[in-house]
Amino acid sequence: MTHILFRHRDIPDIKNIAVYQQHAGFAALKKAVTSLQPKQIVDEVKASGLRGRGGAGFPTGVKWSFLPDTIWPHYVVCNADESEPGTFKDREIMESNPYQFLEGVAIACFAVGASEGYIYLRGEFYPIARHLDACIAEMEKAGYLGDNLFGTQVSIRIKTHLGAGAYICGEETALLESIEGKRGQPRLRPPFPAVVGLYGKPTVINNVETLSNLPYIVEHGAAGYRQFGSEKSPGTKIFSLSGNVNKPGNYELPLGTTFRELIFTHGGGISDGHSLRAIMPAGASSSIIRVDEETFDKVMDTPMDYENVQNVGSLLGSASVIVIDDTHTMDWVINKTIEFFKHESCGKCTPCRDGNYWMLQLTERIHAGHASAGDVKLLDSVAAQMYGKCLCALGDFSTMAVRTAIERFPEDFEKKVKA
Ligand code: SF4
Repeated sequence: MTHILFRHRDIPDIKNIAVYQQHAGFAALKKAVTSLQPKQIVDEVKASGLRGRGGAGFPTGVKWSFLPDTIWPHYVVCNADESEPGTFKDREIMESNPYQFLEGVAIACFAVGASEGYIYLRGEFYPIARHLDACIAEMEKAGYLGDNLFGTQVSIRIKTHLGAGAYICGEETALLESIEGKRGQPRLRPPFPAVVGLYGKPTVINNVETLSNLPYIVEHGAAGYRQFGSEKSPGTKIFSLSGNVNKPGNYELPLGTTFRELIFTHGGGISDGHSLRAIMPAGASSSIIRVDEETFDKVMDTPMDYENVQNVGSLLGSASVIVIDDTHTMDWVINKTIEFFKHESCGKCTPCRDGNYWMLQLTERIHAGHASAGDVKLLDSVAAQMYGKCLCALGDFSTMAVRTAIERFPEDFEKKVKA
């Protein structure tokens, strides 16, 4: 299929502004600013059914409409933190098709009445931030950013902001704290950022992939966008495929593509002739899907969209599909995920700070073969007591793989514990 987001795979050198312009670049921004009202864009995005690509899948146009029109200024913040293990799609968009992304940021600014947009990137994306700065300068020179866009009264500016490499700054309120120069820790909600966001003002926060869809939606309308994907999950999605597959990488496919097509057609199947044992469809935060003789066809024929992945006991999230073969056991997998979450817990609330510490002690003991059956029960109990009691989603995320591994792969733990 033709790509909506990965146009660089169809049009070489589209990261050059002249090439981008030759291929209808900035036509959507011009159309938006010169011939549409902001509300028309919000309505079109609502009608398109575009859902947030950062993981939650919340309808983008609906999110925008929460901004009160009695409090100004409004801000647009793009979450380019991309820190979920197994997720590497936003990076490719920003590196290879940056002008489409920046055009999307500018369209979002116009739609919500913001004259400033911020792009928050994880610290490790330093070269990408500098590359985006150069692209922003090119757009200002060409009159696509700055004052009086296309001869109108509209002014839009975009700035990049680098974090310091903390996973928690991908959580939207920690991200806002970090931009404001404070320690990157989540805020208590409510109030939500749509009302009290950046510098205390109404703010929309969208992911890179979400915003990169906007030029296409403005150009082709909601109906054009809806020709891809399913009724409730329209459009294309970038699936970051990693783990034990022959051809890992990013694949832009219609939402609703099956696991079978992604893993076996595009990904070339399981590496080294091994069998598929488990899938984590949303990176380290996933509930782990068990794949065995009994469940293989059901899982493989499941469409990957926001509704259907739930039918096999997990969530689509950011679609970071980690494939695990039969050479791995789940005690090892959860030891790795908990190492990560323990390291990245910001420490603000006790259930997550202490819970992850204790989960790491237990998973290490189990994986090393020094644990008893009681330790596995204790691990499950710690995870259960953390769930729903943490200040932000990181606490819940850290428990997902643990609880589903113990429930769905009991044999892995039985083999590890001492009698
Ligand atoms: Fe910080 Fe974890 Fe609490 Fe989130 S859940 S605020 S990461 S300690």
